[in-house]
Amino acid sequence: GCTTADVVTALRAAAAVVQEHRDELVRLDQAIGDADHGENMRRGFAAVVSKLDAEEPETPAKALKLVATTLISTVGGAAGPLYGTAFLRASTAVADLAELDGDAVARALRAALDGVVARGKAEVGDKTMVDALTPAVAAAASSTGSAAEALAAAADAAAEGAESTIPLVARKGRASYLGERSAGHLDPGSRSTALLLRALADAAA
Ligand code: ADP
Ligand code: MG
Ligand code: MG
Repeated sequence: GCTTADVVTALRAAAAVVQEHRDELVRLDQAIGDADHGENMRRGFAAVVSKLDAEEPETPAKALKLVATTLISTVGGAAGPLYGTAFLRASTAVADLAELDGDAVARALRAALDGVVARGKAEVGDKTMVDALTPAVAAAASSTGSAAEALAAAADAAAEGAESTIPLVARKGRASYLGERSAGHLDPGSRSTALLLRALADAAA
């Protein structure tokens, strides 16, 4: 299973990927939002790395909670509270576990999605991160293998889910202000969700 050290390594890898894709996420948000998603995410995950440098979490749940509190306090906009809630619910779902297996990963992702939906009220098809996270949860739940396999299945499904947002008209978030003009663009939050899951999966492999 994934130990606390494995989880921390994966979170650092996620932060690096967010940094590498900062400009891409800015461009996606420029097309249908206010051009800050890449910088919001970069700032949030840079703060996560600083926190991890300062204090080594004792459990996977505490590592995920550190991410949650840091994102909530450093990332503004829609995505900060939504990702913060996602990591907080994931943390609660794996509380007390010393290592995460595939089943724990699936439960954490399910809890993360439930948190995002409770907070943001988006449904599949609204052109948000929910369009990436929902198929990721289903893929992780059907995967019967290790944590790494569950994450890999989730990452593949999230990538497809993100692509599926291109033709959609946004019904939640800033992009919804554009109405029909939001169609033809990839949703930035679904892209960041797919990037995060790919980074976590690659690090766990
Ligand atoms: P803001 O829109 O406040 O500038 P960001 O640009 O950081 O915040 O994040 C935008 C992303 O947040 C969108 O691309 C979308 O995926 C996601 N999002 C916005 N509103 C919601 C919502 N109600 N539910 C789920 N995700 C949402
Ligand atoms: Mg924005
Ligand atoms: Mg903004």
